[in-house]
Amino acid sequence: MIRQPVNDPIKHMTPQTRQLTPALNVALLLAVLPLTLLSGVAKAQTTDADTKPPRLVQPARAMRASLQQKQIAQIVREIDARNIERTIRKLVSFGTRNTLSSQSDPSRGVGAARDWLFGEFSQAAEESGGRMTVEKQTFEQAKAARVPQPTMITNVVATLRGTQPESAGRTYIVSGHYDSMCTSPTDATCDAPGANDDASGTAAVLEMARVMAKYRFDATIIFMTVAGEEQGLLGSTYAAEQALQKKLDVEAMFTNDIIGSSLGGNGVRDQHTVRVFSEGVPSNEKPEEATVRRGVGGENDSTSRQLARFIKETGARYVPGMRVMMVYRRDRYLRGGDHIPFVERGFAAVRFTEPNEDYRHQHQNVRIENGLQFGDLPQFDDFNFIANVARVNAASLAALALAPARPKNVGLVTARLTNDTELKWDANKEPDLAGYEIVWRDTTSPVWTSAKAIGNVTTYTLKGMSKDNYFFGVRAVDRQGNRSPVSFPHPVR
Ligand SMILES: [Zn+2]
Repeated sequence: MIRQPVNDPIKHMTPQTRQLTPALNVALLLAVLPLTLLSGVAKAQTTDADTKPPRLVQPARAMRASLQQKQIAQIVREIDARNIERTIRKLVSFGTRNTLSSQSDPSRGVGAARDWLFGEFSQAAEESGGRMTVEKQTFEQAKAARVPQPTMITNVVATLRGTQPESAGRTYIVSGHYDSMCTSPTDATCDAPGANDDASGTAAVLEMARVMAKYRFDATIIFMTVAGEEQGLLGSTYAAEQALQKKLDVEAMFTNDIIGSSLGGNGVRDQHTVRVFSEGVPSNEKPEEATVRRGVGGENDSTSRQLARFIKETGARYVPGMRVMMVYRRDRYLRGGDHIPFVERGFAAVRFTEPNEDYRHQHQNVRIENGLQFGDLPQFDDFNFIANVARVNAASLAALALAPARPKNVGLVTARLTNDTELKWDANKEPDLAGYEIVWRDTTSPVWTSAKAIGNVTTYTLKGMSKDNYFFGVRAVDRQGNRSPVSFPHPVR
């Protein structure tokens, strides 16, 4: 009941995967913790005995939970590496997808790729019973550092509307960029296959849309492929700005960029790790918020970091052959990605990237030098690896969009000195809400280690547990057992 039906990553477990098992056990344990908590407080343990399914005190509730878990597991199973390979080879066949390349040539350039993607997403939408709509989000980009003259840029956006009225406004975005570049970002005619950067992310997003369009979620999911990334994150900046101006409730954004290869330039082959980069201190934090954060030691508890923890737990539960390596950093050195315009506007956002990169195969003219092949070619992609990264994405998106919203306005009461910890928050509005859980961890722990189900209340006091000694958070749980990401409290009087 806790361990999901066996899926591809496990079936094809290699000796290398098995070496990872101790780490996975810990991750799995974190994933199963929530269910053990139906019966009260549990502490993280590390013995094998504790990974056994717990006794359930509410069988009816557990049965419904298992149906929803089956839906997520089914989505994970349906993600198909062959579709991902087909998409990548098709995108590469357009020769270049540089944002400055032809927009009208039907077979070469960014316009051909844009139209092909629009057609593919539209086909996926046919399976949604009218819930998924596809649009070209086009804007004119003014002259910029890597844009020599005003240029039309188009994001292809597929929106799968949520089916619970109270949740349909809540939106989760998964993105990849379909533009590419060779050595020069403004060379519009060179071959720029971009098989990894970022046909891999684009193919993952398209495959998720294809699979998930058939399923129903409480909240809305946007599957987005953007252009202009290599010219300075232009497509995603426009999308993030639109979301802000239209006051879209974007609760999370994932970008998948360079998720194509399991072999690094350092010679390390790792098919079972994906890096998830998240910032600890929000990019848009105001000085007075920074003062509070310093005071409470909240530098490891931004909404983006909570999102990364949610992905790590969900990935361990549904794609146990993959390890989510949380990186406490907004992005890699000298690099940026499409999540950055989102975090800069206050949205929670993370970046998925392969574990070790090979810079000979990124942003390079296709050529052979001293017998070495340079260029971002499909031969360096690992399609099964990309499918597994897509599975971690899809499971996390599904879990988010089935769960209630994370609790809002969570406060930790600091009116007087006490060894108790009192938390309060606003009531969620979902009709299927079951209640809340308080979670906590030692201040030195990277992940939440303990939780307590407290019922449908909006204030709770943990007796004898000092707020000085732990980090606390609150998450919402629905009647099907879906859990929201954790909200970190702000001190309140
Ligand atoms: Zn990229």
